[in-house]
Amino acid sequence: MSRRNGAAAGPPDGERRMERGEPLLSVEGLEKHFPVTRGLFKRQVGVVRAVDGVTFDVRKGETLGLVGESGCGKTTTGRLITRLLEPTGGRIVFDGRDITHLSQRAMRPLRRDIQMIFQDPYSSLNPRHTVGAIVGAPLRIQKVATEKGIKATVQELLERVGLNPEHYNRYPHEFSGGQRQRIGIARTLALRPKLIIADEPVSALDVSIQAQVINLLEDLQREFDLTYVVIAHDLSVVRHISDRVAVMYLGKIVEMADRKSLYESPRHPYTKALLSAVPIPDPRHRERRERIRLQGDVPSPLNPPPACRFHTRCWKAQEVCRTAEPPLAELAPGHRVACHFPEEPPAPARAGGREGQENAPGTTSPVS
Ligand code: SF4
Repeated sequence: MSRRNGAAAGPPDGERRMERGEPLLSVEGLEKHFPVTRGLFKRQVGVVRAVDGVTFDVRKGETLGLVGESGCGKTTTGRLITRLLEPTGGRIVFDGRDITHLSQRAMRPLRRDIQMIFQDPYSSLNPRHTVGAIVGAPLRIQKVATEKGIKATVQELLERVGLNPEHYNRYPHEFSGGQRQRIGIARTLALRPKLIIADEPVSALDVSIQAQVINLLEDLQREFDLTYVVIAHDLSVVRHISDRVAVMYLGKIVEMADRKSLYESPRHPYTKALLSAVPIPDPRHRERRERIRLQGDVPSPLNPPPACRFHTRCWKAQEVCRTAEPPLAELAPGHRVACHFPEEPPAPARAGGREGQENAPGTTSPVS
């Protein structure tokens, strides 16, 4: 889904870097550890390693899907990138600038370029504010337009996301869930950001509405030359919208590849198990597929298993998996896997035969 509008004459330095293929966002060894305290004096008794050494790049105009079970650290990763959380370690470079430890004050101008779409369209909009106030808030905070200009911009945005501009003075409770998410998207677009972190953008919506919102996000990406990081547990949604996909397990990326490679040829046992659980609408393909049922729950990030964190649930685990952490190694161009015994890629003929297995967005997977 990577698309790029024609660059204007004389692009600034950042734009020129992008045209040479440099990433808009680079995350290196990112960590977020939450201390666990107990007692009156809040004595630290442990640490939750929510994100533990995550590394990836996102190129301009690209969509990276971050997928995994609840508690794998994908939402925390999104909040670290937007600097809603302070990283414990690692590095975040946005548009050529290290933003890892910028103060909130120093981050303020960058908030124009990095925006977030939240999961819950009900709680993310202030019920006491009108749609005009909500969508116009970023413009007022950043002082980028006059009141008259703000109203015109907000009405234009409402129209662009498929809402009636006449609803400027209405309140969130007067809208459906899908319409509220559109209001949230309009607010996100107000400052014309470069990067949008979309945290479960459709999981709270009815299945019939999910595809509409996903299509809207794709249209807006083309129109505004946006770069997305889409965080989701629904593998069908991620497949539909992403160019590349990173699979997380207990705070670490275990596999990362372009969409086609990952869905047609998963090499990490965890990814294979996740994909085997996605419903297939076509009964002919359904019969051919082997369902892998993982044993046990996800271990606690307070005390994750040593070495390969997946070894307590992996049917291929051997002694080395319990003693040595597998590196995220590149097994094929752009396809990285953290496993001592990765799955073999399917034979070419079989890979071609899987094309028809793609699910429509909105088909839910049990990964939650
Ligand atoms: Fe399974 Fe071992 Fe690979 Fe971990 S390293 S996913 S335990 S085979």
